[in-house]
Amino acid sequence: MLRIAQVAYHTSPTAALGGSVAGGLNVYVLALSSELAALGYEVDMFTRRDGDGPEVEAVAPGLRLIRITAGPANPLDKADQVAHIGAFAAGVLDFTKREGRGYGLVHSHYWQSARAGTVVARRLGVPHLTMFHTLAEVKNRARISEHEPLERIRHERLAVRRAEAIVTGSDHERVLLERLYEGDPANIHTIPCGVDLERFHPRNQAADRAALSLDLDRPLLLAVGRLERLKGLDILLGALSQLDAPRPRLLIVGGGPESDDYRSELESLAEELGIGEDVTFVGPVPHEELPAYYSAADVTVVPSYYESFGLVAVESMACGTPVVASRVGGLASTVTDGVNGYLIPWRCPEPFAEKLEVLLHNPELRENFSRAARRSVERFRWRTVALKMAALYDEMIAAYQPRPGPPGEGFGKEAYEAAVLHGAR
Ligand code: UDP
Repeated sequence: MLRIAQVAYHTSPTAALGGSVAGGLNVYVLALSSELAALGYEVDMFTRRDGDGPEVEAVAPGLRLIRITAGPANPLDKADQVAHIGAFAAGVLDFTKREGRGYGLVHSHYWQSARAGTVVARRLGVPHLTMFHTLAEVKNRARISEHEPLERIRHERLAVRRAEAIVTGSDHERVLLERLYEGDPANIHTIPCGVDLERFHPRNQAADRAALSLDLDRPLLLAVGRLERLKGLDILLGALSQLDAPRPRLLIVGGGPESDDYRSELESLAEELGIGEDVTFVGPVPHEELPAYYSAADVTVVPSYYESFGLVAVESMACGTPVVASRVGGLASTVTDGVNGYLIPWRCPEPFAEKLEVLLHNPELRENFSRAARRSVERFRWRTVALKMAALYDEMIAAYQPRPGPPGEGFGKEAYEAAVLHGAR
């Protein structure tokens, strides 16, 4: 039985979604791991302990969540988590030793996990597959006002060199890894993400609007996601203000206590634009309750400055709700302009407003887009993702050559870990 360690250091795969941290990555790790377990793999998902809960939690047959104590056992900002990566890697190794059973492969998610994954995989003598989910160089280029730390870029570069392979959710990210990070094309594999097609499917719009106490006749726009600047909600508010009155209602789903400041900023912007009454900040919605929101909406808007894959767009299309999205990252390969939604190449409100007008005023067009939307995402099944990933794991394990140790192999475990973690080589 092949045992796989999934490493999701900075956020738990089972965390509540939609605040400012937990989103697509969490959905991805849990869905992939669940499917791998269903295929017969034994999967352990390692995360940093950030609250209560047992060290080992059985999530499903063959699937466990392992909480490793590293730093304070409470939520920390991403930046403050960096200091505890070494302790986390040591904790994973200690847990593995205590259980006396190893892993065939380590699969890490996000750059901080990639750092831990490098140490763990090399010490266990097994291959390391990493998935960045987002890349600092790309975030910086997408939005000049935010600057990812240089330390992150340096460690992403190291991980690109050190991991046996990298997996991306879109071709776009593969190309960026080659161009911006000098990744070796032979080591980069693209496996599109999945969507739960049983959970996200077309439903009765009127019934869902009634259940959510929404106006049955008023056109409805929807935005879903972690409340962070990269999601481009400023563009959407600008677009809404340009629509003729009576305007549609806009529901913004997502955002927890940690994103309250940003939410207040957006609320003020909506007031300034004269659309305060039209916008409702719903807060985070449990993943299983989201289908009702997608179904209630006429259009889902994804105005992001960047999305490496963009699960929200795919979930919406699976529910038969067309999407108006920025032409960025993975969205360009899931949304087909003029078929199941519209892709907007400019990060400004006017073109969003224009396409929203077109869709809101044409029920027949919406109907056509809706049918095309559902059909177009039927290829994104988590089972398919897991089968492709399992094939990649097998390939990596078969090809694995233990890497030579760091300079002066004899210089001890601590020095070795310091070298790998801090980038001495
Ligand atoms: N999500 C959720 N509840 C919320 C907000 C978001 O369940 O209140 C989920 C959403 O359904 C999606 C994920 O969080 O599966 C966001 O993924 P996406 O790829 O769109 O964005 P990311 O978080 O990766 O930037």
